[in-house]
Amino acid sequence: MVKIKRFIECLIPVTACNLKCSYCYVIQRDNRTLKIPDLDYPIEQIGRALSKDRFGGTCYFSICGAGETLMPKYIVDLVKEILKQGHLVNITTNGTLNDRFDELVKIDSDLLKRLNLSFSFHYLELKRTNKLDDFFNNINKIRKAGISFVLQLNLCDEYIPHIEEIKKICLEKVGAYPQIAATRKEINLKDNIELLTELSDDEYIKKGKEFKSPLFDFTIKNFNVKRKEFCYAGDWSFVLNLKTGLLSKCYGTGLSSNIFENPDKKIKFEAIGKNCKSRFCLNSSHFMSLGVIPTIETPTYGELRNRSEANWYQSEEIKSGLNSKLNESNAEYSKIKKIYVTTKYKIIFTAKNILRPIKNVGNIKKMHK
Ligand code: SF4
Repeated sequence: MVKIKRFIECLIPVTACNLKCSYCYVIQRDNRTLKIPDLDYPIEQIGRALSKDRFGGTCYFSICGAGETLMPKYIVDLVKEILKQGHLVNITTNGTLNDRFDELVKIDSDLLKRLNLSFSFHYLELKRTNKLDDFFNNINKIRKAGISFVLQLNLCDEYIPHIEEIKKICLEKVGAYPQIAATRKEINLKDNIELLTELSDDEYIKKGKEFKSPLFDFTIKNFNVKRKEFCYAGDWSFVLNLKTGLLSKCYGTGLSSNIFENPDKKIKFEAIGKNCKSRFCLNSSHFMSLGVIPTIETPTYGELRNRSEANWYQSEEIKSGLNSKLNESNAEYSKIKKIYVTTKYKIIFTAKNILRPIKNVGNIKKMHK
């Protein structure tokens, strides 16, 4: 029985991809530079930096590239190293790089029980590039190796005429409909965010509901809802850049430290409290379903994703870990501590806001010297 101690959302800043989906956030941001950056630290050092001892128990590392996560050659060794530390790992992938799946299934089967793959189903691009068969063959490959998986589709207008064929092929190949992710327009995240569709929101939601996807219902429910509750991000969850080792309390906080440089240095775990810096919880289906805001009742992470009727989650480790809540392995703060951290980070963020323009003027002056 696994219970997750901490959740770490990991970014690999690879922007290269072998597909070109119109709704991709990298393409929307015009950031398709096709880069596969090297890691700044040796993989063995990264492993030590992410040890169970340092993080206080079994954590869940969810790895996603800005482009295709499996592009870098080092990715399989890196994943293996994190699994060897005793953690659960998720990789989000477009499911098309056959060699990488061949490498993944060769990892020791005991480690593979703690691995989950989230296959993004880019249906029309897979058809255009003739990779649809590869995609489902790769799912079969990892399924045979005992690796858990999820199939998910980013709902957008170009898929709407194809909904019935998408449902049919998924039922046939993986035993269930894909889970649905709502696709947003990638604009300044401080502004009100819109769904990426020409339909009205109601029409878009109606289309999404055809897939009976708890993931879709949950993300829609939390879309654009500003979170004001006490959040344990910074203690129970983090955002980590796997290239640089910068660990941030959450998106947009500007509070980060390099945890790869000295793997023996203690990490300070402290929640940011009622100071969420995001317009809304951008990855609510990860953070909130794992329970970073314990006052909000949610389905578990696994309930949002696994199609249990089709056995997508295969191991007890993944089933129990991804259905656990963070407050099962972490004590909640006392009232006084909650007030203390909320006030502390309010002051820090206010000071940062005041100092930022002064710093910017300083930088401009330096540039003109
Ligand atoms: S509510 Fe805000 S601070 Fe908490 S996890 Fe979500 S985005 Fe991060």
